[in-house]
Amino acid sequence: MNKEDLYNYLDSRNRDFYSLADKIWENPEPAYGEKIASDLLRETLKNEGFLIKEITDMPTAFIAEYGEGLPIIGLTGEYDSLDGLSQTREPEPMARVETNYGHGCGHNMLGTASAAAAIAAKEMLKSSKLPGTVRFYGCPAEERLSGKVLMAQKGVFDDLDACLTWHPSSLNTVWGCRFLAFNSVRFHFTGRAAHAAASPESGRSALDAVELMNIGANYLREHIPDAARLHYSITDGGGEPNIVPAKASVWYYLRAPERHQVEDVFKRLVKVAQGAAMMTETAVEYELDAACYDVMPNDVLGRLLLKNLKAAGSPDYDSADEEYARKLSHEFTPERKETSLKGLFAPLSLKNQIVHKGILENKDQGKVMAGSTDLGDVSRITPTAQFTTATWPIGTASHSWQASAASGSSLGYKGMMLAAKVLGGSLWDLFHEGTKLLKDAREEFLQKNPETYKSPLQQ
Ligand SMILES: [Zn+2]
Repeated sequence: MNKEDLYNYLDSRNRDFYSLADKIWENPEPAYGEKIASDLLRETLKNEGFLIKEITDMPTAFIAEYGEGLPIIGLTGEYDSLDGLSQTREPEPMARVETNYGHGCGHNMLGTASAAAAIAAKEMLKSSKLPGTVRFYGCPAEERLSGKVLMAQKGVFDDLDACLTWHPSSLNTVWGCRFLAFNSVRFHFTGRAAHAAASPESGRSALDAVELMNIGANYLREHIPDAARLHYSITDGGGEPNIVPAKASVWYYLRAPERHQVEDVFKRLVKVAQGAAMMTETAVEYELDAACYDVMPNDVLGRLLLKNLKAAGSPDYDSADEEYARKLSHEFTPERKETSLKGLFAPLSLKNQIVHKGILENKDQGKVMAGSTDLGDVSRITPTAQFTTATWPIGTASHSWQASAASGSSLGYKGMMLAAKVLGGSLWDLFHEGTKLLKDAREEFLQKNPETYKSPLQQ
């Protein structure tokens, strides 16, 4: 099976993969609740002859493996959706009545394209009789930035020679950039209830503590690294106003380009919380419920992905896809498109296109994307690279209704199948002639990651 045969094989199974992505889109599920999606992907891969391995205490995570011997190449698949992003396929804001959830990050396509590429690689390994193992990782809860971190704690990525993945987007390009390291932490304050009018002096307000903590955090912002981010929401602010709140909670996300910066800001934020507790004579406890590393992209593998992106070419959008994209993006002003392109480190001239048709040579090495992903932890364990394809019109923000709609459309599915070809083509190269490439990728990895991976949840 040469590379062209592999592309043709994927084309011949278009309908199967469209239907798989569509079923997941139809049934959007929350992080760690992705039962339908993980069952669909698990069953599909099992029926293709993959060996399925379950992961203890993570019912919606699994590994599907095919082949024998080295190299072992991993592909990650995600399939969780987002609360509040319910949307029909219509190119105007219109929530579905049956669900509040929607695939506003396109993870219905992410898991499907990776599974499609794994199946194409299986066909190739079977016909060529080459040694090598392809492994699909079914990864829950990317949106909580924790699924892969919990899987990493179980050591499931340790024996990989490389890991490849992709993400739905508005551009056909490789991500050579880094992403922000991240902590999610919940602070719980406990005070003393009292009648707010009759005996306020005997109460100690946990809500006061939360508010003072937030003021402290907003002053802290001035003295943390420029690219660091702090955001919060009050998840419990007490009940009726005539009772001094005995309990209150606030949930923080902390992000920064380097893991050690997140840990430093985290320690200082804990001091702010303790100060607020002292001022209000309340007690504070906190829980770190998720954390991940910044992504460390592997340039050797990034170049392999770019080569295969160029080889596969951009999808064949028809006039209906173009018309759909035009309607979907009718409210995108040139300024908004420029902001989106700037965020993706792409040339601003692309604002004149509705759907990206070319292949963009990325010049984002060393830059940091203002977002986080739990792929960061995988990239600290094994050489890892990722790319994107145009599944949405230019200017579309992820986590938007437009992204939810396009992720269930023919426009999205054409981008998805391009992603499957790029992953499949890259696997073809790694299994046929990957020895030197994998050695170079490993050398780069060791040079960029001199320390052994330690879970960010064990600080
Ligand atoms: Zn995503």
